Amino acid sequence: MEWLSTLRKADPETYGIIKDELKRQREGLEMIPSENFTSLQVLEAIGSVLTNKYSEGYPGRRYYGGNQFIDKMETLAVDRAKKAFGVPYANVQPYSGSPANLAVYFAVCRPGDTIMGLNLSDGGHLTHGFKASLTGQVFNSVPYHVGKDGYIDIDEARRLAEENRPKLIWVGYTAYPREIPFEEFAKIADGVGAYLAADISHVSGLVVGGVHKSPVPYAHIVTTTTHKTLRGPRGAIIMVTEKGKAKDPDLPDKIDKVIIPGMQGGPHNHTTAGIAVALLEASKPEFAQYARQVVKNADALARSLMKNGLKLVTDGTQTHLILIDLTPFGKGTGIFVQDALDEAGITVNKNTIPNDPSNPFYPSGVRLGTPALTTRGMREKEMDLIGGLIAEVAKSVARYQLPERKEERSAYLRNFKNEIKADSELAQVRGKVLRLCEKFPLYPGMELP
Ligand SMILES: *Cc1c(COP(=O)(O)O)cnc(C)c1O
Repeated sequence: MEWLSTLRKADPETYGIIKDELKRQREGLEMIPSENFTSLQVLEAIGSVLTNKYSEGYPGRRYYGGNQFIDKMETLAVDRAKKAFGVPYANVQPYSGSPANLAVYFAVCRPGDTIMGLNLSDGGHLTHGFKASLTGQVFNSVPYHVGKDGYIDIDEARRLAEENRPKLIWVGYTAYPREIPFEEFAKIADGVGAYLAADISHVSGLVVGGVHKSPVPYAHIVTTTTHKTLRGPRGAIIMVTEKGKAKDPDLPDKIDKVIIPGMQGGPHNHTTAGIAVALLEASKPEFAQYARQVVKNADALARSLMKNGLKLVTDGTQTHLILIDLTPFGKGTGIFVQDALDEAGITVNKNTIPNDPSNPFYPSGVRLGTPALTTRGMREKEMDLIGGLIAEVAKSVARYQLPERKEERSAYLRNFKNEIKADSELAQVRGKVLRLCEKFPLYPGMELP
């Protein structure tokens, strides 16, 4: 079947860019842990005529007419979300994870209230109170941290909560390789009367698949993106648990009102359809099998990386995600490893590590994960091979060190980029990556001439 044939004729420029991106996705190893490949049926749903319709409001109470089918669509998505996570309330309208989190703040806090979240460079998300995020400016943010061992420092979090009496505490992280300690944080939040919001954006697919503990018995509010391990379109869901309803029966209503009219206008109905399709897929035994394999693959990859001489934060993983600690190569070396891997066709992202001796622009770690490769069908054997390739690439650029003097950095990096383009070892790895990718075709049958 020929895809995008109408677009190809009408707008060759846009078509060409999409085609190039498909080729990039096909011919590389996508290891950014927040990325995944949706199914064709999700792509079809988000490419549908549902994008044409305005439907401000909620099913049965819209500002515009003509919403009889959109109402059905949103109700279906909401019902599937409630069933998948076991919650009494879900809102599928947030445009993405960040606005979903912002809505939670304004549902339970007023500007100036104290909130707590994991510090950004310790693995927390921007929207959990980082100073450059609105959430760290509008609210009084008291960050908690990980300890020297890389695990969340529960004692510090408890002490900070008792001293600062926050209104809202966030758990759920963006660069943390271990299980999220929901139960411990529920005790802390309940002890100070705070709302506990679990942002399971990264692990929601693992939660639905039964390989990560669920936050539902512990948190009052749960948020998640739908495009990470859950493998749906870009979007988000806000949920309230029975525990949340018991604390404040008006919570669902407050969240609805913050989303619209508080923050957003019309929902993205094509995305709502994609979320519904992804949630149906996630309810199948094959998805639980997928989630199990994601974690098994991450464990196999972690073992291979360590066997090949790399140091990992917390010495491994229990999830889909791994953080390589590159301080043995020098501080601020994440950029060299990221760019060299990119050259070799392996996509990861540079990331801070706990107590990073450098800064978020030049962090000393690399974050990677297995959701996308597992979707392609790769298993432990391939992870073992890829771990070896990553270690080889990291070692091959170990001679590069970030200049101490800021003025020297851009020229040094330019030179580095030129040198890796001509590096024959990286070219060899690139060849191996290509051969591996060919064995695990992405969107087979999607032909773009
Ligand atoms: C990805 C992520 C978000 C933000 O999602 P966007 O869709 O990028 O806005 C929020 N919280 C956590 C923990 C995340 O990992």
